[in-house]
Parts: sequence; C-alpha cells; structure tokens
Amino acid sequence: MPLYCTKCGAANEEFAEFCKSCGDNLIEAREKNTDKNDEPAQTSEKKLYRSRSNKMITGLAAGLAKYFDMEVDLMRILWVIAFFVSGSTIAIVYLIMAAVIPQEPE
Ligand SMILES: [Zn+2]
Repeated sequence: MPLYCTKCGAANEEFAEFCKSCGDNLIEAREKNTDKNDEPAQTSEKKLYRSRSNKMITGLAAGLAKYFDMEVDLMRILWVIAFFVSGSTIAIVYLIMAAVIPQEPE
C-alpha cells in the first residue's frame, strides 16, 4: 500500500518519513491512515480531482490514482497501454475527463 501525502496527494513509499513530492511530514499521515477504517464518512467524501502537484500533463492520472488508491506510476502505465491499444479513442476520453474533472483545490 502506498502512503498518500495529505498535503499534495503524491504516493510515497509505505515507510517514507517525508513526501517525495512536497517534503511534507508523512508520519502524521500514516497515523491517520491506520485508524481510517473506523471512519466510513471519510471515504464518502472522496472526490475525483486532477492533481495539482503531481502532474505530468493535466494531473488526471495522479488524481485517478489517488481516487482509486493506486500507484500513480501504475495508473500512468495503464493510460499509456490504453493509448497503444485504442489510439485516438482513449485520447478523446482523456481530454474529456481532463476538461470535466476539476483541478484539486489548493
Ligand atoms: Zn506531498
């Protein structure tokens, strides 16, 4: 399980102490992560955003990865594979999603 930075949403190594993206302290985030199971309300507030800080093109892949609790790199690989498999179709899907999904609030 990657550890997601509470500040920027970047996926970090499970035992990382500091966020590789923004340098935020992750120890607090990890403690929050461990008792997350007791708070079902938190998952219902989950929203899909394009990542502001961890983006390559539009931040869509990073936002989706966060939403689906996946590694950002894995999500990007899936997009690349999808591009190769379906070509322009997935490009259109990507552009529509990038246009519709709001950017993460600051
Ligand atoms: Zn961060």
